[in-house]
Amino acid sequence: MTWRDGEGAAASLPAGVVVSAADLHHTETALLPAGLRTRPEWTWRRRNPGIGTVLAYLGVSGELPQLAHHTMVFSEDWAPDFRAIFSAATGDSGGSGSSGGPGSSDGTGSSGGPGGAGVYSESVYVCRPSASDPGVAPEGTENLFVLIPVPARSDGARGTVDGPGDAEVERIVDGVIELIGRRAGIPDLAERVIARRTAGPGDFEGRYNAWRGNALGLAHTLAQSAFLRGSNASRRVEGLLYAGSTTTPGVGLPMCLISAENVVKRLRGDTSVGPLPAGTLGARGTRDARGAEGPARGRESGGSPGAPGAGSR
Ligand SMILES: Cc1cc2nc3c(=O)[nH]c(=O)nc-3n(C[C@H](O)[C@H](O)[C@H](O)COP(=O)(O)OP(=O)(O)OC[C@H]3O[C@@H](n4cnc5c(N)ncnc54)[C@H](O)[C@@H]3O)c2cc1C
Repeated sequence: MTWRDGEGAAASLPAGVVVSAADLHHTETALLPAGLRTRPEWTWRRRNPGIGTVLAYLGVSGELPQLAHHTMVFSEDWAPDFRAIFSAATGDSGGSGSSGGPGSSDGTGSSGGPGGAGVYSESVYVCRPSASDPGVAPEGTENLFVLIPVPARSDGARGTVDGPGDAEVERIVDGVIELIGRRAGIPDLAERVIARRTAGPGDFEGRYNAWRGNALGLAHTLAQSAFLRGSNASRRVEGLLYAGSTTTPGVGLPMCLISAENVVKRLRGDTSVGPLPAGTLGARGTRDARGAEGPARGRESGGSPGAPGAGSR
């Protein structure tokens, strides 16, 4: 395995097992040389990256009793709203929502653009941490975190995490601040914003190597669920395993933790169903590539683990 360290110096290490928890598209198409890819670029043409997000982190003067710690603002018309996000992400033109932002009916949304530019969902999540913990915002102010679903796409717009935000992201955030103010009864919300940071799909792609800037992991469509989602092991590189939201079982923190359990079970040749019993990490034997039982050689016991068990697909 070769890589560049934080200073840019090349380094290498022989490894019997490598677990990549980075986005699977990045692992397969950027980290592996062409001849060793189980999923080369062409296999991704029909895959669905799921949703992207625009995020807003806002400091607001005064109190916001109209908002709970968690507030979901739902779109008034779900069908075009969802269609806009998913048809733009997959390039499917068969949906009326792909030509315009769901909010455009009332003038708050964007008119949309090619490949889903400017399209966003009016079903947004608003978190007000200062509702529960006054220590997270200066006295007399509140803080908000807003999650706005948008289509995942390559070269998506960026926010203000690393520099000036792209106009597209800032327009979407402006529209959603107006939406929250209108739906929650805070008409002066926009004027009360005193601190603002944003992020967009371009940040997810640029900072985290997320395919098409997806925010959660590959969509749970039928063809990308359960056994159809793929295997957590490379077919081309022995000992290369995958973990995280882009492999099995799927998206979200609980699923990602299960993907890590699946890696441990594969290394042990454990084909049982159900979770690992609590406290067993490192306590049981692993199987080597031929399936022979051996002593645990994981991190806990100071050695490098054995190759994945052959029978644990
Ligand atoms: C705003 C937001 C809110 C969410 N809320 C929830 C929620 O409430 N509940 C829930 O269950 N899920 C939630 N999710 C989804 C959940 O966070 C993800 O599904 C999960 O974090 C994915 O975990 P992961 O380990 O696969 O990927 P990540 O957490 O993205 O980790 C992958 C890591 O790989 C690194 N990496 C990439 N390329 C390389 C490389 N070449 N070398 C080394 N490292 C690399 C990246 O920098 C990153 O740190 C949310 C997601 C977002 C964006």
